[in-house]
Amino acid sequence: MLKGKVAVVTGSTSGIGLGIAQALAAKGADVMLNGFGEPAEIEKLRAGIAETHKVRAAYNGADLSKPAETRGLIEATIAQFGRLDILVNNAGIQFVSPVEDFPEEKWEQVLSINLSAAFYAIKYALPGMKARNWGRIINIASAHGLVASINKSAYVAAKHGILGLTKVVGLETAETGITANAICPGWVLTPLVQKQIDAIAARKGISNEEASRELLSEKQPSKQFVTPEQLGELVLFLCSDAASNLRGTSLSMDGGWTAQ
Ligand code: NAD
Repeated sequence: MLKGKVAVVTGSTSGIGLGIAQALAAKGADVMLNGFGEPAEIEKLRAGIAETHKVRAAYNGADLSKPAETRGLIEATIAQFGRLDILVNNAGIQFVSPVEDFPEEKWEQVLSINLSAAFYAIKYALPGMKARNWGRIINIASAHGLVASINKSAYVAAKHGILGLTKVVGLETAETGITANAICPGWVLTPLVQKQIDAIAARKGISNEEASRELLSEKQPSKQFVTPEQLGELVLFLCSDAASNLRGTSLSMDGGWTAQ
């Protein structure tokens, strides 16, 4: 289905991004991985994807808090693979604190990685997509793009912002073969969420299982984590012809979180 297409998935050395990169490779797309981690571990992931799915897989360690490196990631992908068809803006971080104590540098960091990086990546990916009149831009937002929680000012602001950016790009490409949409996941058990479970467990002196249950039951009616594999399948749908008139919108996969 995606043979001959080239995808960049930002923040794909872990969690949701890795699940999405694997789903795209399973359908034949060549993939550029990005994110932080142990070089040997990342090389294992890269080689595993290339071998299992018989695709080209590469890795670029751009730090997406830096606009020049985000631009570099897009340019390196086009230089290495000759094109870029699918851009998944997934890299993201969390920081939790009441507004009045929120460190200013953390605000800047969350905004730059969770929102500005998507703008820069889209800006530099679009010309090539327009030249071929085909493209898929998929922004990984969050239930926190639609509703808020306390102590997550930067994250919630960035995620609401990325839905706005998605709408604008969806409109600007509305008469082309390029679509821009967002996905709003609920809780997914990844290192980003495990840190929040650890904090609950430490604060309340409860086990990992009890803390997970507490985290889920507060927000997610299904009381089950969404999985990276399920999100990977949703990305594949957005890449399909059937999704060619989904434009500038967001799809929630949140176990019912935002239906409440
Ligand atoms: P994760 O911590 O498992 O993965 C984050 C990825 O981003 C990693 O590959 C990491 O190396 C990379 N990254 C972090 N800072 C970076 C930087 N400066 N430059 C380049 N890469 C960087 O997190 P995850 O839970 O898989 O989150 C992925 C996305 O999904 C994020 O945008 C997050 O906000 C969103 N999301 C997660 C959940 C959840 O419950 N886990 C829910 C909704 C939305």
